[in-house]
Amino acid sequence: MYNTRMLSYVEARACVIRQTARAARKPVTVTKGVNDALGDVLAQQIRNDREYPPFDRSTRDGYAVRAVEAGAGAQLKCVGEIKAGDTVTQPLPPGACIQIMTGAALPPGADAVVMIEFTQRDADVVTFQRPTAARQNFVRKGSEARVGDLALKSGVRLGFAELALAAQVGAVQIQCSRRPRVAILSTGDEVVPITETPGAFHIRNSNSVSLAAQVRLAGGEPVPLGNALDRVDDLSAKIEFGLKEDILVLSGGVSMGKYDLVETVLKSLGAEFYFDAVAIRPGKPAVFGCCRDKFVFGLPGNPVSTMVTFQLFVIPAIDILGGAPARQLPLLEATLVKAMHEKPGLTHFLPGFFEWTGISPEVKPLDWQGSGDIAALTQANCFVVVPADRSAIPAGEKVSVLPRLDVI
Ligand code: AMP
Ligand code: MG
Repeated sequence: MYNTRMLSYVEARACVIRQTARAARKPVTVTKGVNDALGDVLAQQIRNDREYPPFDRSTRDGYAVRAVEAGAGAQLKCVGEIKAGDTVTQPLPPGACIQIMTGAALPPGADAVVMIEFTQRDADVVTFQRPTAARQNFVRKGSEARVGDLALKSGVRLGFAELALAAQVGAVQIQCSRRPRVAILSTGDEVVPITETPGAFHIRNSNSVSLAAQVRLAGGEPVPLGNALDRVDDLSAKIEFGLKEDILVLSGGVSMGKYDLVETVLKSLGAEFYFDAVAIRPGKPAVFGCCRDKFVFGLPGNPVSTMVTFQLFVIPAIDILGGAPARQLPLLEATLVKAMHEKPGLTHFLPGFFEWTGISPEVKPLDWQGSGDIAALTQANCFVVVPADRSAIPAGEKVSVLPRLDVI
């Protein structure tokens, strides 16, 4: 162990953020179409090309009026209609109203829209049933954005709202950071490619599949390197290959077994370790370090341990090396519906099902066979977080919940 004290998962995450932020450089940029940039990190400033809304825009179907002329009981002649998309130049004549649709431009002179529900119409005469306030039911031109205002800052991760804003201001092609390339190397003499029929004592390489999916989901570019045997020569050669990428993620080979050689091999290649154990279960032997100027994660090989430690520790590294701030750990709070008993000393991340049942969110811990039980995790949409200082949590208590990012 390289630290005198095992880090908590919060400290370990902070360590990843600190170390990667120290090394982060301006990422190389690539041009992407706005429809292809979901999950990318913006590498330019995007400014508003025009005011928004570009005209005084009605937010209701109703009548455009001068508020002072449209008090409760007032009657005005309707002299026309304006629908969304119409070119509007003619002012509203005094003592009149114009029928207007949601999304249409107010005519010059109008200062309010009255909802159709609060009017009565008889031929071309409209009776207003309620008092009308100036400025009601429309959004003033330029109130959301002015020409030249910053719409999207460099470094934001592009979700659907950000992409919509880029589209709104006409940013069809955008500069994004190149996604960090993440080499994925599984280890283990028992691990065989998924395209092969496993022998009686072999297991298929599911970690390379889950890791690639998690990398993609986090905004990285997976670079699958297959599997290394539990032998120094094979591990060294494949690790060296992985060190060509921005990040190397290994699975397996970091426990205390005689053939857990990942740390030894990394060390022989000159690695420096920032931590090599975290006070969590599953995932305690997780390793994070730097080798030949590249960041390396050694994640424990049990599939659920690999998934949990990826979510806790690798995602912030992908964020930062991809030019974005580290995203928050999306912890939620929910009421535990079934008591839990765990050994104290480690923070547990256990499969659970989070459900919003009406009044407040609830979470049910699921039965599982331990960190090899992928099937149990497919029934789960979150991990229940049991703090290190708790050996028992009764039903009804509030607990933290870490959502599975792909299903919640
Ligand atoms: P290790 O961390 O190397 O001791 O591996 C722990 C357990 O995780 C092994 O016994 C395997 O059952 C499982 N395992 C290791 N690597 C993989 C992998 N690539 N895919 C699926 N399961 C794995
Ligand atoms: Mg192994």
